[in-house]
Amino acid sequence: MTPTAPIAVVTGGAAGIGWDIGRRLVGDGYRVVAADRVPGLTAAGEEADILWRELDVTDPSAVERVFREIEAELGPIDVLVNNAGIQRHRAIEDLTWEEWSAVVDVNLHGVFLCLQAAGRRMVARGAGRIVNISSISSRGSAGRAPYATTKAAVIGLTATAGAEWAGRGVRVNAVAPGYVDTGVFRQGIDQGTLDLDTILNRIPARRLADASEIAAAVSFLVGPDSRYMNGQTLYVDGGFMVDYGIPLAKRPQ
Ligand code: NDP
Repeated sequence: MTPTAPIAVVTGGAAGIGWDIGRRLVGDGYRVVAADRVPGLTAAGEEADILWRELDVTDPSAVERVFREIEAELGPIDVLVNNAGIQRHRAIEDLTWEEWSAVVDVNLHGVFLCLQAAGRRMVARGAGRIVNISSISSRGSAGRAPYATTKAAVIGLTATAGAEWAGRGVRVNAVAPGYVDTGVFRQGIDQGTLDLDTILNRIPARRLADASEIAAAVSFLVGPDSRYMNGQTLYVDGGFMVDYGIPLAKRPQ
């Protein structure tokens, strides 16, 4: 990393998948800012060279202020990764308004606010890349209504922003990860609402993703080899989305 290195902002970048995305982008030569509520791993003495700026992505004025301050201090933001996300597991009939709203606020409103704040600056300069983190849950997932709904909406927002800004030098794409053993998944396992064996049996690759594999897809989507990609969602899921999950009872002859 050099003082003239391009700048990447990763929301929710102080933990979990966001941390691995930041480490990967540091390796790619970026100066990385983890914009997160608490310092997390950025304060743990890790040697990844990741800066931390306090941000709650659901707060419109804070989003605008933090993006303005990052640019004033470090220079133009070249890359935004909209990674911050939360989940609440509950049947639709039992969901509270607070649970629904909390997930929509972070996973959809937060993504929109950061995309707009970074995108406005990128469009004005005619250059930039944005990657939004969706999920395989976007296809619909029982017990995860706000999560599935917001992750599907992120795909729609990605396609729309990708189309609006494709001719203005700004590329917007998404990565939809399968299961990774980080916060959103671990919370479900710890609370007993997710069962690891059931999940592994449903994944054609028969294993969870490593966060570094999600980071590799982000690296590709912000790099020059994806320069003709706009508005796409890349599934990094061990084959989950291409198999509807009911195996044959017997191996065909
Ligand atoms: P983690 O909980 O490990 O990390 C998410 C980070 O986002 C945390 O540091 C969290 O901070 C932060 N965050 C939460 N709310 C806000 C907010 N309002 N403003 C700023 N930062 C916030 O989650 P994962 O790494 O597991 O998930 C990262 C992304 O990947 C999410 O969008 C998730 O939906 C997606 N994803 C995850 C999958 C998985 O299996 N883990 C699968 C598919 C998609 P705090 O700890 O303070 O809440």
